[in-house]
Amino acid sequence: MAYKIVSSPTAMRREILFWYDRHRRVMPWRAKPGKTPDPYHVWLSEIMLQQTTVATVGPYFSRFLERWPTLPDLASADLDEILHGWQGLGYYARARNMHRCANVVATEHQGCFPKTEAELLSLPGIGAYTAAAISAIAFGKPANVVDGNVERVMARFFAVESPLPHSKETLRALSADVAPQTVRGRPGDFAQAVMDLGATVCTPRKPKCGFCPWQRSCAAHAAGNQEELPKKIKKVRKPVRQGVAFWVMREDGALLLRRRPEKGLLGGMIEIPSTDWVEGGWSDIEAQKAAPFKACWVPLTGSVRHTFTHFHLELSILATRVKSTVTCPDAIWATPDRLGEHALPTVMKKIVNSALKSA
Ligand code: SF4
Repeated sequence: MAYKIVSSPTAMRREILFWYDRHRRVMPWRAKPGKTPDPYHVWLSEIMLQQTTVATVGPYFSRFLERWPTLPDLASADLDEILHGWQGLGYYARARNMHRCANVVATEHQGCFPKTEAELLSLPGIGAYTAAAISAIAFGKPANVVDGNVERVMARFFAVESPLPHSKETLRALSADVAPQTVRGRPGDFAQAVMDLGATVCTPRKPKCGFCPWQRSCAAHAAGNQEELPKKIKKVRKPVRQGVAFWVMREDGALLLRRRPEKGLLGGMIEIPSTDWVEGGWSDIEAQKAAPFKACWVPLTGSVRHTFTHFHLELSILATRVKSTVTCPDAIWATPDRLGEHALPTVMKKIVNSALKSA
């Protein structure tokens, strides 16, 4: 289906840039008006913002810059320190890829990010959206930068009735029609302008059309169905997986931790040992067979719940006390007051809190 642009792309770009120059959001990684963006800042923020909100990312971004002010600083940092600093942002594969990316840029690109989308795409952790965003925002290259905010604005402006995710390609093509084709069209500002419009005016609920620079030509506004768009296919319910965590306290007060395998969920992070997480759960006998060693395991009261992208997790906890002479392959022992020194993801912190309460 062809969508008619009521206003010309040139007029749309002019209108939204005029609005952006007055209403742009101030964010710690954004260059001030008239200043040249720092590609390291743009890249760092874009990686952190994948799957995470602007409000959450703010303090993390500032802390990372304080600690690793330049790309070479981050490249030469210890991965464990980075994972530790990343705690709470989730999706830890991003942190590992970020470190790998910093090393590739430092060693293969003389410490300077490449400027084209194609070159950026070849770097670890940089997908199509992030490559387009860095190319446009850091280097002012024309690029079609499409995130969830942009999809929503396009779906409404052009009154796209087909639901997400089926409509993704259509929305991308519509966004490409409107995006600047030359450097003079201020591609970086345009990309950030549409994102800002989606985040502050064309919001998921109750869009503030009265403040929108595109109101005059917006198809959804004209039809009065802006709150119904974009349509979405109903999500399937997340499955629930279950597991058993093993809380092992040594007689000197140290807890048993392990490092998770590099590949897979929470890869490379520090964990409280547990069974696999499976649908259908574990019987007591099965769980004890999966324990790090034979011992007298006692169930603790309460359970831990956590939600990942694709499933909900419920964990029960079995506890035991062991002598200081106990041996366990790959063991990392840490007293509860020193757990903060380890890169424990949120779900593991929940296990610690629950076990400390009931042990
Ligand atoms: Fe969104 Fe309303 Fe602007 Fe249309 S007029 S783009 S619905 S805020």
